[in-house]
Amino acid sequence: MEDIFEGLNSRQKEAVTSTEGRIRVVAGAGTGKTKALTHRYAYIVNVLGIDPANILCLTFTNKAAAEMRSRIAGMVHSGDYNDFVCTIHGFCVKFLRKEIYRLGFPKSFTVLDEEDCKAIAKEAMDEMGLKRTEKTVKMFLEEIGASKALQGYIGTYMLPGAKVSDNQRKTSKMAAYVSRQMKNYALDFDDLLNLTRYILDRFPEALAWWQEALNYIMVDEAQDCNTDDWDLIERLAGGHRNLFIVGDPDQAIYEWRGARPDLFVNFGSDKDIILDENYRSTPKILDVANCVISNNRNRIPKDLFTRKEEGKPVIHFHGKSETEETDWIISQIRTLRERGVKLNDIAILYRSTYLSRALEQALLNAKIDYTIWGGTRFFERREIKDALSYLRLINNQDDDISFRRIINVPSRKIGRKFMDSLEAAAERDGISLYSALQIHISEFDKPGARAFIDVIEDGKQFALGGSISDLLNRVLEGSGLKKAIREDQDEERLENLDELLSSIKFYERSRSEEEVTLSDYLQDIALYTNDDHRKEAPTLKMMTIHQAKGLEFPFVFITGLSEGIFPNLRTIREWKKNGEEEERRLMYVAITRAEKALFLTESEGYNLSTKMNKYPSRFLAEIKREMVVTEGFIPEELWRGTKNLIHVIDEETDPHRPISFDDDFEEERAAYESPFHIGDTVLHPVFGEGVILSASKDYASFTIEFSSGATRTVRAPFLKLQDIPE
Ligand code: ATP
Ligand code: MG
Repeated sequence: MEDIFEGLNSRQKEAVTSTEGRIRVVAGAGTGKTKALTHRYAYIVNVLGIDPANILCLTFTNKAAAEMRSRIAGMVHSGDYNDFVCTIHGFCVKFLRKEIYRLGFPKSFTVLDEEDCKAIAKEAMDEMGLKRTEKTVKMFLEEIGASKALQGYIGTYMLPGAKVSDNQRKTSKMAAYVSRQMKNYALDFDDLLNLTRYILDRFPEALAWWQEALNYIMVDEAQDCNTDDWDLIERLAGGHRNLFIVGDPDQAIYEWRGARPDLFVNFGSDKDIILDENYRSTPKILDVANCVISNNRNRIPKDLFTRKEEGKPVIHFHGKSETEETDWIISQIRTLRERGVKLNDIAILYRSTYLSRALEQALLNAKIDYTIWGGTRFFERREIKDALSYLRLINNQDDDISFRRIINVPSRKIGRKFMDSLEAAAERDGISLYSALQIHISEFDKPGARAFIDVIEDGKQFALGGSISDLLNRVLEGSGLKKAIREDQDEERLENLDELLSSIKFYERSRSEEEVTLSDYLQDIALYTNDDHRKEAPTLKMMTIHQAKGLEFPFVFITGLSEGIFPNLRTIREWKKNGEEEERRLMYVAITRAEKALFLTESEGYNLSTKMNKYPSRFLAEIKREMVVTEGFIPEELWRGTKNLIHVIDEETDPHRPISFDDDFEEERAAYESPFHIGDTVLHPVFGEGVILSASKDYASFTIEFSSGATRTVRAPFLKLQDIPE
């Protein structure tokens, strides 16, 4: 059994022993907030003798809850159960299993995930005759979520005795949606919180029971709670008034989802404890973190310090291409491995899920085991499997597995019954499902099935002469797959499809010498799609930065650090200055995950998702040059590109922002206005294709290396931009 006070500083000890009243710990990353919280839990159990059933300990993700449970397990007596170390929604499920009978629900209610909700929304929209082109599923669900916040729906549509007429279902979105849920007593995440609050509001004896039971409540990452979370927490803590919250406003990364860090800042506490020594990262890493976050205006300045040894310099690697970036990462991982570092101690972080694709392929090629935390491997993502199944079926119509996967994706109103008879026909004739469909199509009144055949036949024809990337584009549009995802406004899936397209384009370019056929491509990627990875062995971890919150890893790579990717262009467009600051906090979270070494990487090239050439992220530009060692050559022009982009993006979002270029603004203006930039591929009527190496000060002429090997300086009017892949 660990000594509860061992390895705690005096302020942490104070946090541990301040058990009564409203206590707040405000502190930066890696200062031991979570450690103090877990030790406090053990203190309350081991020293005060409180039963864990009387302590509620809330955190933000399931991963963080699991981590916390295992930390606590090492400190409290075995046999003590810590069921109430969980997320807020996890708590609500436990609460409702006990209390939901009050509303006449069975305690065996089910919980809907995001996909389930979308499916129900689609059915409801169909029933109401709402066209999905006019109202997307996402908008529909957002409206439902907003009206659910008012809680009126519970009494009107959910409680026993609530009768929903056919007419109501046709006219009211809420009626249509909720009555579908109620068929299976299925609750979505909003319901979990709403029903819990509803019961606490209306059943004083339930409120009294829980307020009495929960002697102590603790909340980690409290800066990311929203108003409903706060309402619930405050209500539960209303009895004993022992509420302990910890958080860091600099790590608030969920304002886009309604988090209210201001409620954390304005929490009325009896005592505040401030921690400022970071125990996680080396000074070099911490300097970079402090430097980046100091660029946020909307913050209370604080600097962390550490007594750790200097450590290795933070490295910024710049690659000429994405391949160079991933190759470099692989070589660094190999070097670490040679020095005895365990794979388990390495994490690769990125801003958006689609960015995992290039890294995954590189890791698979290098035979390095990896796990994606809180997500799915790129080639196992649904839309990727769907898209590839279309290509597979076009390549080989005997592929029944692909056929079954996509015949009804997107929906073509093909149900179980139709499939059963098709399977039987194929079996009887000893032919593939696709052939059976073609032969028997006239026997069925199924326009959707006809359309499906058209897509496959058109694809077969096109594949004879067209490129694979064009074929994929054609299939994604022709099949309606992309349209369906667009209607769902599912940006993540769209980004993944763009990424697949962009990887195929790259594949074609890198093999331009030989002719590549569809079947070559499908064979080549089988390595990535058939990978039956071992799960047990310790593996390298990959995850989005949001998933990495609260965690720590000895060696951290932050990849894809290009303007538009990180900070994310969409976030800045949507949330303006606040968006930029939230992205910067996300960068701060990412940097402060690293214990021993930090690698920051980015590369040049074109990004299909942002539809922009890549320039180093503004967050890299904000790091003082002496704080990082740069590997790879970054021409000054690239940094200039970054500045120009910041300028362009900010002008879009904030027209009043003063322009603050330090040097030679004229040149930057010229660069901004020029259609040609360093690294662009251009066409010359005589020399053919070439890449721009440098530009004159006024961006009127360019030095270009042509494919022939010749280097020439050419004036702008003689150049044309090579078609950018759209
Ligand atoms: P974050 O803001 O990222 O959630 P945190 O403030 O919760 O960070 P912890 O995860 O609790 O920080 O601690 C960071 C690291 O520092 C952990 O490895 C922890 O074991 C270690 N640590 C915390 N306090 C001390 C201490 N007093 N002495 C030595 N190590 C400590
Ligand atoms: Mg923590």
